[in-house]
Amino acid sequence: MAVTPRPEVAAAALRRTHTVFNQAPELVGADLFSGNQPLVEATVREGAPWIAERATTLGRIVGGEPLRWGFEANENTPVLHTHDRYGNRIDEVEFHPAWHRLMALSVEHELHSLPWRSQQPGRHVARAAMYMTTMQAEAGFACPTTMTFAAVPALRSTPELAAQWEPLVTATSYEPALVRATDKGSALAGMAMTEKQGGSDVRANTTVAQPLARFGLGPALAGPGAEYELTGHKWFCSAPMCDLFLVLAQAPEGLSCFVLPRILPDSTRNAFHIQRLKNKLGNRSNASSEIELDGAWAQMLGEPGRGVATIIEMVAHTRLDCTLGATAMMRLGVAQATHHAAHRSAFGALLADQPLMRNVLADLCVESEASTALAMRLARAYDDAEAGVEEAELFKRLATAVAKYWVCKRAPNHAFEAMECFGGNGYVEDSGMPRLYREAPLMSIWEGAGNVMALDVLRALARSPQARDVFLAEVREGAGADKRLDAHVARLSDELTGAGPGRAHGLEARARAITERMALALEASLLVRHAPAAVADAFCASRLGGEGGLEYGTLPASCDFGAIIERHRIPA
Ligand SMILES: Cc1cc2nc3c(=O)[nH]c(=O)nc-3n(C[C@H](O)[C@H](O)[C@H](O)COP(=O)(O)OP(=O)(O)OC[C@H]3O[C@@H](n4cnc5c(N)ncnc54)[C@H](O)[C@@H]3O)c2cc1C
Repeated sequence: MAVTPRPEVAAAALRRTHTVFNQAPELVGADLFSGNQPLVEATVREGAPWIAERATTLGRIVGGEPLRWGFEANENTPVLHTHDRYGNRIDEVEFHPAWHRLMALSVEHELHSLPWRSQQPGRHVARAAMYMTTMQAEAGFACPTTMTFAAVPALRSTPELAAQWEPLVTATSYEPALVRATDKGSALAGMAMTEKQGGSDVRANTTVAQPLARFGLGPALAGPGAEYELTGHKWFCSAPMCDLFLVLAQAPEGLSCFVLPRILPDSTRNAFHIQRLKNKLGNRSNASSEIELDGAWAQMLGEPGRGVATIIEMVAHTRLDCTLGATAMMRLGVAQATHHAAHRSAFGALLADQPLMRNVLADLCVESEASTALAMRLARAYDDAEAGVEEAELFKRLATAVAKYWVCKRAPNHAFEAMECFGGNGYVEDSGMPRLYREAPLMSIWEGAGNVMALDVLRALARSPQARDVFLAEVREGAGADKRLDAHVARLSDELTGAGPGRAHGLEARARAITERMALALEASLLVRHAPAAVADAFCASRLGGEGGLEYGTLPASCDFGAIIERHRIPA
């Protein structure tokens, strides 16, 4: 018997415009460490199996609520308060609570300090695994995390300053209040090198450091730990709410490095004035500022006139983190794109089952795995170098520049392709992909933009033929596994050792090309040794064998797309 709907039900049905289907579910609740198979394997391989349990706990945490904090911290960007209501300078930046939650998460899990607190072998590798896992929730808070981590080796150049600051910057409590670090028992560190007239070329710095005379105690002292007054400006100074800054300024002996606290020993505020916050493309949860130092009190770190040599220790560790950060972004793109494609259909089939989309996804996975292998191998070099292995020190010096250049360069287009896998949804903020896309170029620009890094590779090669030999020896550990790699390494070796044609000609102009070839050789060598055959073969064919195109999704059709994607997809 036909049933006639009641009039109000029929009217409701008419008002219902459509049913939502064929939209991928949100990727939440995943374990962002254990679901990242290449990272799990690299963590064990490079010497930190002991961190797996902690990283898994963190991976589960990060795959949950922090994802929302990342959105909130970027939608509610930091606000600068230069003065209080009475006109007094305060120079404070107000952050959304989500930012503070992310910072607390980072500090409590030792992302800023693990290698300096732990005595375990493999502690840089362990931190790298934790850092790359957490960066997938949000990247902005990684900036103060990294600078705090990286400040420690530079602080150690002056033992009395290290004794004062290291316990504070490695503490695992997060306290954002702008009070004396000794009162709150913790500190975060930033760096201020870049000025309006020059960032890469810090020798152009004009900020002046004047030695301070000590109240009738005779002439001003110079040298490590001595007190100075700094006057000048800095054009980029990120995370200005940090408690101390490593600052470059011109002392009478030349460019020198200083430790500058925001709060003075007598609890008053240092003359560190925030002029404005930068309106940035991405990295919007984090505050990056322009500052003026108006006779700010500071202490010299390292030797007078040796500012670059002192701060380079900090710079090297931040460059390591740029590589880790760019790798984490690629991993995020792969996790999201493979998840989306596994749930979205077009033309009657899941995207994940369509040959051309499988090629794109597999290519993104291959790049992500190559970056992961390289980043984790680099982290191990930091462990080995600290343990006193001479070859590791040489490898670290050269490979840091190579990896910072290459992995960071690969990230922006990787983010774009991952975004395109979502179609229109990828272009919309809710997906998180625009945020990833905006963040990606930053890793390449700061801490040494592309050209500067490529030139740094040439510098390292010129200074130390041993570094070149150690690098080539590492690459050759993959010899015999793949003919394309062998041929590539033979050409690279000729080029680096001078046997190749026209070696010296136009060397500087070829710096990017040389660095790229070195990076590809190292990545391929790591993959043929440690990755599944499907991944290594796809990499060598497309990146070394001339069988790939300029865009992602141009792997040879013979590649095993299914095996590659399955390895990288976060299990449902
Ligand atoms: C969001 C953000 C936050 C930042 N935070 C900080 C911070 O906290 N502290 C800080 O000190 N700095 C910070 N920076 C500054 C950053 O490190 C510099 O912008 C960067 O080092 C480049 O310096 P520059 O901007 O002066 O560019 P320039 O030095 O003018 O370089 C411009 C271009 O020229 C290229 N170039 C330079 N020299 C050569 C050469 N010899 N041959 C060929 N090409 C060359 C560079 O690769 C670059 O592409 C931040 C930057 C950004 C974007």
